[in-house]
Amino acid sequence: MADKVIRASAYGGSVRAFANDIKDTLGTAMGYHGLNPLAAVALGRALSAVSMMGEMAKSKEDTVTLVIKGKGPMGGVVAVCSKEGTLKGYVVNNDYSSYGNCVDGGVGGCIGAGYLNIVRDLGMKEPYTGTIPLQSGEIGDDLAYYFTYSEQIPSLVALGVKLNPDMTVKSAAGMIIQLMPGADKDIITRIENRLREGRSVSNMMEKEKTPLGVLGFMMPDGDVQITGEKSVSYKCDCSRERMLRGIASLGRDELEKIISEQDVVETTCHFCLAKYHFQSEEIKKLLVKQEPTINSG
Ligand SMILES: [Zn+2]
Repeated sequence: MADKVIRASAYGGSVRAFANDIKDTLGTAMGYHGLNPLAAVALGRALSAVSMMGEMAKSKEDTVTLVIKGKGPMGGVVAVCSKEGTLKGYVVNNDYSSYGNCVDGGVGGCIGAGYLNIVRDLGMKEPYTGTIPLQSGEIGDDLAYYFTYSEQIPSLVALGVKLNPDMTVKSAAGMIIQLMPGADKDIITRIENRLREGRSVSNMMEKEKTPLGVLGFMMPDGDVQITGEKSVSYKCDCSRERMLRGIASLGRDELEKIISEQDVVETTCHFCLAKYHFQSEEIKKLLVKQEPTINSG
C-alpha cells in the first residue's frame, strides 16, 4: 500500500484530524541512512509528524521543517516536508555504540534535554518559526506541547514506529487530533480514553490497516469525514547548485581556509548521503562574489 497522509474533520467540524501511514517512506530513509533501531524510531516519528504538519499548512506552498536538538548522544533529528509532499530527514548521530546507557531511556533518553523548533517557509522573506523546550524528547509529547502552548490548539499527538527483527519496518504511522475553538472539552477525554484502549497508533494501524481506519477507531461517534488526501514518499532534492550555496554560506574566512587546505572539496548531503565534489577553483569563484570583510574603527 502506498504511503499517504489524510486530513479529516469530525464531530461536525469541531475537531480536525490528520493521520498517515509512512511505512515505505521510513523504509526508504533506512536504506539511505542504515539507521540503528532507536534512530529509525526517532526519524520515523519526525517524518510522520512533519508530513501531517505539511497537510496542516494554511497554504499548500509551505515547506515545513521540524528540528529537534538535544544534549543526548543522538544529538537530535531533522525532518522536512516539501510543498510537493515529499519527505526527507536525518538523525544527527546514528552511531549506536556511542549512545551508552542512554538507550535505556529510549528515544527521549538518547535525545536528551533540548528544544523543538518548527519552521514554516511560506515562500516569503521571513519564515514563521516557533520553538519550545523538549518535554520528553519522545517527539509526540513534545509536538502536543508545541501545538497546545505555542499555537494555542489543544492537540493529541501519537506517533508510532515498529521494526521487525530483521530491521525492516513493521509499521510507521501517526495521528494528530485537534480541538477547534468552541469544541466540547469532553471530546479530548474521550479520544484519550480511545488511545488507551487502542494502546498505540502502531497497534491501531496494524489492526485497522488505513489512516482513516485509525481515526474511525479513535472517534467512533465522531462521523469522521476525509477532507484531503496526499501521497507521501521519501525524496531528496539536493543538487550541485544547492550544495554550492551551502558552501558559500560558510563565509569568507572559512572558504579561504578550505581552499588553502584542499584542492578538491567533498561535501555530503545530510538527507541522502550523496557526495558532491568541487574543485577549489569553483570555491574561489564564490569568494569573488562575497564582500570582503571590512574592519572599521
Ligand atoms: Zn540529498
